Amino acid sequence: MRATRRRRFDLSAVSELLLAVPTVLSSLLVVTLLGKPVTPQSPWLFPVLWLVSGVIAFLPVTDGALAWLVHRLRRPTPSESQVLVPLLESVCDTASVDPRRYRLWIQNSREINAMAVGGRVVGVSTAALSLPPRQLEAVLAHEVGHHLAGHTRASLLRWWYELPARLAVLLAFALGWGVLEAGAALKTRPAMVTSLVLVAALAVVAVAVSPWVLLLPVIAPLLALTSRRAELRADRVAAELGYGPLLLEVLQRWRNEGHDVLRARAGLRARMLASHPSCTQRISKLYETRTAPEPKLGGRQSLKPTEA
Ligand SMILES: [Zn+2]
Repeated sequence: MRATRRRRFDLSAVSELLLAVPTVLSSLLVVTLLGKPVTPQSPWLFPVLWLVSGVIAFLPVTDGALAWLVHRLRRPTPSESQVLVPLLESVCDTASVDPRRYRLWIQNSREINAMAVGGRVVGVSTAALSLPPRQLEAVLAHEVGHHLAGHTRASLLRWWYELPARLAVLLAFALGWGVLEAGAALKTRPAMVTSLVLVAALAVVAVAVSPWVLLLPVIAPLLALTSRRAELRADRVAAELGYGPLLLEVLQRWRNEGHDVLRARAGLRARMLASHPSCTQRISKLYETRTAPEPKLGGRQSLKPTEA
């Protein structure tokens, strides 16, 4: 009997949401402060409406808008659909999920790449279409793995609820920059001192409204770590569906193309903030998965590695 993979937030998705709590509290404060003069009789109205607005993260139209506007993806041509649809259907059949749930989008790029966006979008670069079909299917399985584990939905929710706090900080930076520029333009000592005092006051207000800014040096690497764990988790889902050997082929190909060399040159800070693990780590984790009990999924391949 075929195993059904249920969609639910896994540990990586939950961790990402928990790490967002300080920023979301700052957003709540920003929304409350903005709403107070508008609805003085009901100060709770704006915060409640804003909390309810998180429902947009679950609407199909949001996924499409993000794919188009933020990730600059486009819908596939008939010939691209002809290649991708049967592969996605095969992945979904293996995972026992409805393929109509997902929407295929294309990224015009010479780099082999794929992405999951929101709750439904599976994006593939034009270069990835040149992969052997079974390898491309494994790449799609990894992206479906992100959706099944709730990774991209959690990211979308976090982005939405962090937006007011981020905009407030951005506004404070813009105001501070404007005040400093004005002080410098006047070219007098009192003007310079006044502008510095104003910027310091602005910084105090910004930190009071968005104290999460102070936690950023800690939160940013933790979020990156969560993202890297999500990648390994999506690899694992793909492997459990029987795509381990094919995913290994793709990762070995990327490693041979020098992805890890570029990463090693990036320095410690960049590696700590990297959203993806190295190909070497992903390959080694996939090999480790082989020691786990063989998933009882009909017609799956074993996780025996193959050479690229
Ligand atoms: Zn991924």
